[in-house]
Amino acid sequence: TPAPAANFIKNIVEADLAAGKHAQRHWAGHPGTAADHAAAPLDAAKIRTRFPPEPNGYLHFGHAKSILLNFGLAQAYGGRCHLRFDDTNPEKEEQEYVDSIIDAVKWLGCSWEQAGETNLYQASNYFDWMAQFAEYLISAGHAYVDSQSADEMRANRGTLTQPGKDSPFRTRSAAESMDLFKRMQAGEFPDGAHILRAKIDMASPNINLRDPAIYRIRHATHHNTGDKWCVYPMYTFAHPIEDALENITHSICTLEFEDQRPFYDWLLERLAEGGLLQRPLPQQIEFSRLNLTYVVLSKRKLIQLVDEKHVEGWDDPRLPTLVGARRRGYSADGFRLFMDRVGVTKNDSLIDYVLFEDAMREVMNESDQRRVAVLDPLKLIIDNYPESQFEDCAVTNHPLHPELGTRTMPFGRELWIEAEDFQEVPEKGFRRLFPGNKARLKYGYIVECTGCDKDENGKVVAVHCTYLPDTKSGTPGADSVKVKGNLHWVSVAHAYPAEVRLYDRLFSVPAPGARREGDAPELERNFLDDLNPASKTLITAQLEPSLKDALPEQRFQFERHGYFAADRVDSKAGAPVFNRAVTLKDSWGK
Ligand code: ATP
Ligand code: MG
Ligand code: MG
Repeated sequence: TPAPAANFIKNIVEADLAAGKHAQRHWAGHPGTAADHAAAPLDAAKIRTRFPPEPNGYLHFGHAKSILLNFGLAQAYGGRCHLRFDDTNPEKEEQEYVDSIIDAVKWLGCSWEQAGETNLYQASNYFDWMAQFAEYLISAGHAYVDSQSADEMRANRGTLTQPGKDSPFRTRSAAESMDLFKRMQAGEFPDGAHILRAKIDMASPNINLRDPAIYRIRHATHHNTGDKWCVYPMYTFAHPIEDALENITHSICTLEFEDQRPFYDWLLERLAEGGLLQRPLPQQIEFSRLNLTYVVLSKRKLIQLVDEKHVEGWDDPRLPTLVGARRRGYSADGFRLFMDRVGVTKNDSLIDYVLFEDAMREVMNESDQRRVAVLDPLKLIIDNYPESQFEDCAVTNHPLHPELGTRTMPFGRELWIEAEDFQEVPEKGFRRLFPGNKARLKYGYIVECTGCDKDENGKVVAVHCTYLPDTKSGTPGADSVKVKGNLHWVSVAHAYPAEVRLYDRLFSVPAPGARREGDAPELERNFLDDLNPASKTLITAQLEPSLKDALPEQRFQFERHGYFAADRVDSKAGAPVFNRAVTLKDSWGK
């Protein structure tokens, strides 16, 4: 695999490595205080990154960017990347999501098992540390228990232009706050009665520094810690601590966390001052999130699409989830190529879906064997070819890889061809079958079209032709007759009729739900109104016989059509059904 392209995060990492910033870090293999770490050996990992999903939904294409970036950096620089379930919120998380995240990360080819370390973590395992750190902050005068109501707190927070107002409880003694925080933990108070806040600056121009909440009372059962806790840390408090306890060197996140960085640094500095964390501290670095045309990449919208049954579940091949991508037949290497091309920047941009599809095509063109499939079958009858006689034609498995050899396809008197390969009255420039014209049946013979049969409505139901016996592909006579048209076919007697799903874009406009030029000022658009009604077409195709043995998830290029994968859910042994991942060329809008 080629080295990923340069980007500003790589520059930061390289500068840190050159300066030896992390060379003296100790690695205990488990969370610990600065003293615990100092007793441990030096960290063999040059850098540590992490991918920290909240297990409250399925991963989407945007997460793939973060996964490939974090695991890619670790791999490129002799580091480790941790998979961490950010499960500090007791109410929203489920095992189903944990399992699907593990599958998706593995599918992308990333591993948290590196150099004998298994770096799979759960943030909820740090609740003891977090509570201890919160108590330290109280004792050092950096946190206090606030007993204002939620409304009072909101009113006193101020605005972007107006400073906030100190809470009357801000001057509470450390001893009183400590007593209250202990009693919060003991379950003495109902939800919302008190809250623990960092004591920073209610007049800060950055609202995130106006005494942010760090611990709240929540009488809820947690999927990992059960009923042990009735106080839970806020995300902005928990996340920097998780990073520090895991020895993360570069904590990479999306731009919406930029305003949180001052608090991230403030918190870790206070804890390091107190001797609770080793230095150097993790550094938060923000990059712009992936936005793609024709899809939505927000958990909330994806949940709505699934819950309201606009799609058939989280793994619907039309959804931009990673389970959906896998089922559709997209390639993990294609994701890697696409993300390399998109790059890592701090500029928000909307990436054209065509770029994604082109990366997929490029990877699949190289990796996928060719097969023959007739998607819109019309019968071709070769009147001068003996009935019940068949012969083998040699077919190349991969034109770019002759070493992959050939296979055979049976040829006979009756073949399926694409309906569009015959025109009774040819339009200008049409070079395939029409009465009087000759064309090549690829890998087989040259045939001359003689006419067609029609039903009572005038619909063509069969095409007739005669073949030129000396013109078989691969024989000396193959070039004796020159023809311009070339078509694919499968033997009627041998074809495997299969269900094939032709997927198209889920939305019919580039920015679903966004206002468009000319919209009346009062018009509010809903992304659901932009769903493409023709995003899925079911057909019965006639496939070459060998495709009957395709295994779930096996993918092929169907010649002239695109890349198709055997569906991993609905395929049965000896009876695969196929999903179109992507067409050969961009046909959108044509
Ligand atoms: P969403 O915003 O879609 O609800 P999330 O950010 O809540 O997703 P998390 O599970 O918290 O999802 O995210 C895990 C990691 O993936 C975070 O580091 C987050 O920044 C990153 N991530 C999420 N969406 C994108 C995106 N579109 N592009 C790049 N990284 C993303
Ligand atoms: Mg989140
Ligand atoms: Mg988010």
